[in-house]
This record gives sequence, C-alpha cells and structure tokens, in this order.
Amino acid sequence: MSTDAFVIGAGVIGLSTALRLARSGLRTTVYAAAPPHRTTSAAAGALWGPHLVGADDRVPEWAAQTLEHFRGLAADPAAGVRDLAGVAAAPGRHESGPGESGGPGKSGGPGESGGPSDADVPPFLRGADGLSRCDPATLPGGFAVGWRYRAPVIAMPDYLDYLLAQVLAAGGEVRLGPPLPSLAAAAARTTAPVLVNCAGIGARDLVPDPDLEPVRGQVVVVANPGLTEFFVGEGSGPDEVSYIFPHGATAVLGGTQRRGDASTAPDPATAARILAQCTAIEPRLAGAPVLAHRVGLRPVRPRVRLAAGTLADGRAVVHNYGHGGAGVTLSWGCAGTAAGQVTRLLG
Ligand SMILES: Cc1cc2nc3c(=O)[nH]c(=O)nc-3n(C[C@H](O)[C@H](O)[C@H](O)COP(=O)(O)OP(=O)(O)OC[C@H]3O[C@@H](n4cnc5c(N)ncnc54)[C@H](O)[C@@H]3O)c2cc1C
Repeated sequence: MSTDAFVIGAGVIGLSTALRLARSGLRTTVYAAAPPHRTTSAAAGALWGPHLVGADDRVPEWAAQTLEHFRGLAADPAAGVRDLAGVAAAPGRHESGPGESGGPGKSGGPGESGGPSDADVPPFLRGADGLSRCDPATLPGGFAVGWRYRAPVIAMPDYLDYLLAQVLAAGGEVRLGPPLPSLAAAAARTTAPVLVNCAGIGARDLVPDPDLEPVRGQVVVVANPGLTEFFVGEGSGPDEVSYIFPHGATAVLGGTQRRGDASTAPDPATAARILAQCTAIEPRLAGAPVLAHRVGLRPVRPRVRLAAGTLADGRAVVHNYGHGGAGVTLSWGCAGTAAGQVTRLLG
C-alpha cells in the first residue's frame, strides 16, 4: 500500500500527529524504534501545564488547544484522562523555578490575598480552570506559596494505548524496527512524499540536532491509597520537583529533572528520595506498595521545532520535536499544526 505520510516516533507526539493525519484521510504509517510503552511519553506523570519548554509565542495556543481536547476526553474512561483538582506550590518568593516557564514561586507571596490577575498567575497555570491562591496555612510543610486549580491528569500508558487504537481504527499502520540512523535512512524505507519527524530526544542523532538536550526524569508508581487530588511542589534547587498524580488505582510520584543526564536506568537512591519527599507531603502514601519505576528523557530545546524542511532527495519533512517537559500538554495542538503543514505540502 502506498503511503502519504511516514511518521517517525510512537510517543505522544508521533501518535497524536499520526491520528490527526489518518483522521484527515491521509494514508499514514508510523515507524518507531521503541513501542509506545517504552518511550519518554510513557514515563510522564502527566499533568497539563507548559513546564520546562523553551520560550515560544506558539506554546500558549498549542497548550490551550490540547487542554480543550483533554477536557473532551475526560468523559471517555478508555482515554486515561481525568479532570482533577489540585495544588501547585513553591517554598516562597524566589527567582528560579523548575522550568523556563516559571513556577508558582515566581509570583505572589505568602499572605497575599485577592483574586488573581493575569500578571499574578504563573505562566504554566494560565488557562487552567478555577484558579485561586491557596491559604499558606493549608499547604504541606516547607511550602509557602500555592495555587489551587483544576487540570487534566493523564495516565500515560492508558492514553498511549488509546491513541494507538485510534490510529489503527482510523486506518493508520504502525511498524517497529531498528533505530533509524538518519533522515536519509528513514526516506529509504518509504515512498511517502512527506516524512514527519516525531523522534523526541532521538532527533538529537537522527537529524542531527545538537540544540536538543536530554533532561532526565524518574518516577515511582505506587498503589493509590485513596488520593483524588494532584500536587506539584517546586524544590529548592533547579533539579528538584515533587509531584503526586493519582490515576485511579495507581499514583505516579516524582520526580527529577536532571539536565544532560541520558541514563535510562532507574536509580534506587533517587526512588527512595522521591518516596520520602512525597510521603512527607502526603502522609497517606506511607507504606504504599511500589508497582514500577519509570525513567524518561525530556527532549528540551530552546524552542519547539515544528517546521517543514526538504530532504536531500527533494522530498519534504515536517519536524515536530523538542517539547521538553510539556510534550503531553502541547501534543494535540502541535499535532494539528504538523498535520496542517503535511496537508499543505501534499497540495
Ligand atoms: C518523568 C517525566 C515527567 C513528565 N511529566 C510531564 C507532564 O506532567 N506534562 C507534560 O506535558 N509533559 C511531561 N513530560 C514530558 C513529556 O513526557 C515529553 O515532552 C514527551 O513525552 C515527548 O514526547 P515525544 O513523542 O516527542 O518523544 P518520545 O515519547 O520519546 O517518543 C519518541 C519516539 O520516537 C522514536 N524514535 C526516536 N529516535 C528514533 C530513530 N532514530 N528511529 C526510529 N524511531 C525513533 C522512539 O522509539 C519513540 O517511539 C514528562 C517527562 C518525564 C520524563
């Protein structure tokens, strides 16, 4: 069967892009070295909110489009998306947050009151529902500033299964194979007139793109002791963040954001630190059975690369990678932009 679009990558970006392409009637093939459950995407927490992503005026619109999409999916239990209430907190007023987008400690301060104005609200919370400043007395020990809001929390293994099933149902094809050493090698595997590069951190070697930097994240999955709200807390250093994301029977606890570390093996000392910090924040986690350890490499870049280019043989490539710590948050919006570019290229 001939193909219109050859998508490299089966993480949240590749599958979302393939789904939008297949739903628009294009014959779409996904090719990936790792299946969805072994990608960075599967390790994500995941909470909606643009975090650890390069400054870019396209990000708010992509995030807003994805937020609307996730709100719609929350009604479908198969999608793994829950609309939850929770808190983002920080130790207090300071200038360095966990991500380029800023954290809750960058605005406001303990004891401030009144409804939030746009200028008050940390950038990664803009657009979230029901935003209000927390009474500092209600925050866990060590946190002085906090925001309460609602946002989609996504059980990534479930959401990736859902996306894969939707791609197949829309007529797409998904193939696994060895890592492609270059875009020319990818082009040699297909007659498709357009390739779509959704390789995440793999684009560093595939393109190659030295601007892409791995920022390692490790999480611990535990049996959920009954938590129904999320919590995200900035740590005191740039590598530190603590979060708790309930997903029904399980909860994902994090985390780390270590720049330049490309190790994908879980580190037992890091897992112990995550469990201790999260239990200090939420004592009901004490003794919760550990079910899994996950590690992923966030593809951080000064700017998301979503643009068309030309391969050496004259065919087109649409790049869609470099979403940092916000790939889930931006996935559906970026997929729409990428699919629009592919459609235009195909005339
Ligand atoms: C611990 C952690 C927590 C996170 N929390 C959040 C969160 O709460 N919210 C949020 O929005 N984001 C979060 N992120 C970030 C998010 O997970 C990433 O931005 C996103 O997963 C990137 O998706 P991707 O599809 O681009 O890459 P990936 O998921 O890495 O997928 C890349 C795909 O490309 C394939 N590939 C790569 N190179 C090649 C090659 N040469 N040949 C063939 N195939 C190739 C891979 O096999 C894989 O299938 C988190 C990340 C981590 C690690």
